[in-house]
Amino acid sequence: MQLALIMYDQLSHDLPTFRHIDKAKDVILMVEVVDLTTHVAHHKKKLVFIFSAMRHFAAHLKRDGFNVIYRQIDDPQHSGSLCEELEKEISNRDYQSVIYTHPSEYTDWINIQKLLKSRAVDARCLDDARFLATEEEFKDFAHDKKQLRMEYFYRQMRKKYNILMNHDEPEGGKWNYDAENRKFPKGQLDIPPTYHKDPDEITQAVIECVSEKFSHHFGDIMPFHLAVTREDALIALKKFIEQRLEHFGDFQDAMVQGEPWMYHAHISFYINIGLLNPLECIKMAESTYYHKGYPLNAVEGFIRQILGWREYIRGIYWLKMPEYKTLNFLSAERKLPDFYWTGDTPMNCLAQSVKETKNNAYAHHIQRLMVLGNFALLAGIHPDEINNWYWIVYLDAYEWVELPNVSGMVLFADGGLLASKPYAAGGSYINKMSNYCQSCQFKVAVKTGEDACPFNYLYWDFLMRNQKELSNNPRIAMMYRTIAKMPQEKINAIKDSADQFLSQL
Ligand SMILES: Cc1cc2nc3c(=O)[nH]c(=O)nc-3n(C[C@H](O)[C@H](O)[C@H](O)COP(=O)(O)OP(=O)(O)OC[C@H]3O[C@@H](n4cnc5c(N)ncnc54)[C@H](O)[C@@H]3O)c2cc1C
Ligand code: SF4
Repeated sequence: MQLALIMYDQLSHDLPTFRHIDKAKDVILMVEVVDLTTHVAHHKKKLVFIFSAMRHFAAHLKRDGFNVIYRQIDDPQHSGSLCEELEKEISNRDYQSVIYTHPSEYTDWINIQKLLKSRAVDARCLDDARFLATEEEFKDFAHDKKQLRMEYFYRQMRKKYNILMNHDEPEGGKWNYDAENRKFPKGQLDIPPTYHKDPDEITQAVIECVSEKFSHHFGDIMPFHLAVTREDALIALKKFIEQRLEHFGDFQDAMVQGEPWMYHAHISFYINIGLLNPLECIKMAESTYYHKGYPLNAVEGFIRQILGWREYIRGIYWLKMPEYKTLNFLSAERKLPDFYWTGDTPMNCLAQSVKETKNNAYAHHIQRLMVLGNFALLAGIHPDEINNWYWIVYLDAYEWVELPNVSGMVLFADGGLLASKPYAAGGSYINKMSNYCQSCQFKVAVKTGEDACPFNYLYWDFLMRNQKELSNNPRIAMMYRTIAKMPQEKINAIKDSADQFLSQL
């Protein structure tokens, strides 16, 4: 008899483990855990989503004739820990071996291996074929490179899977159409809504349990309209492909007050938990270019996010863990301001992004990068503080994907391994890509002083503070030349405004 461990984010019938299970003899163990690897108090909506999807998946397996042992979080016998539950199960029965698919989180991988080794259990860990690049492939790509660039890795993946390729050339002649994807919508918007399904009985029970046991956690549970089964996640994917993908490219970077979902896909949480397979999302999008005449900038832009960014991020995580978690290239030390939890700040872009994060456990990429992340970078928030926040608040956040995005892309904490320069920007970028500034107490055109948009002086102050670390970077050399020509009076005004603002955080 073999024990098969299925993790909380492996809710997929394609999981390699299933190819090695004998329904008649083997047992599947699934465990609900609140901390999901460390002591992180996740958003309440995220807990409901994960537990409900797990319960639906377990019920499906039982209907298919699998022997499933399922530990609910409200079971009084539940220790609360994945490894303790695994250990109990191994001790309870006479298993010949344990089989599992490689966990996506480093800490889970280490803890499970340690436990199985200490118990001298015969164990088999299978590669997670749901990812499109293997660890080995990424290592080969990274070999001998001081700096990695997503673009070259992405081209390799396009060729490997023959996606949007015209023989050996990229479809349309260019690999990347990002330059066409920076428009801001004009006039009244009519964005097709995100997927919506009311909670069924299983989800209702989880909602009650989470509201009672984890009321102190961040975030709102209701409204809860997410898919929690593969069938419904597929409907959500099709809805995006049919109704929003066409405009995905054009408005990919746009932020509109009161429109939290925009033309984005809203599927990262389904892919990351196993309900959708990344390759099926890519193929479905690709076919709209060939069969429906959807614009190439939209289709390529969407495919690049999954085939390029998602795989690149995962490759960096496994290449650089556990050291990656300790990196702090810019020596950022500040604590996370309270408004990341409350949204209570006069800076409208931040207040709106936090409010939407609290309601939906979702914010789209540009809000995460250029508002919430940009502020953390400019203010010098310690990587641990802000990583923890992103991990807690988003439905799709697991350490393997959150950490490189935050430490690498947002904070430049890896010194430029992932990104060629820090994504730092003043208020004018936010003003160009959003309408937040129109309802803000601060004036985006004012550079220093009480009325000025804080992003403006924090941007220059950030560059000045980190001159030693950043001035040699050719991509921001021009900014340092501008600083060198600045009158001392202007430098003093920037520093005074920044010091005053940061001292009040
Ligand atoms: C600071 C920061 C933190 C982030 N944390 C996470 C996280 O914890 N989990 C997560 O899945 N994504 C994360 N992202 C990436 C991205 O913001 C989300 O994947 C995206 O917003 C999810 O919404 P969507 O499905 O509507 O995506 P869309 O914008 O419609 O993109 C399509 C898909 O591409 C993939 N994707 C796009 N960009 C990335 C990326 N940088 N890394 C990985 N996948 C990507 C996702 O699977 C996404 O569903 C983060 C980005 C930033 C800047
Ligand atoms: S003025 Fe500055 S703080 Fe206010 S919304 Fe615009 S960018 Fe944000």
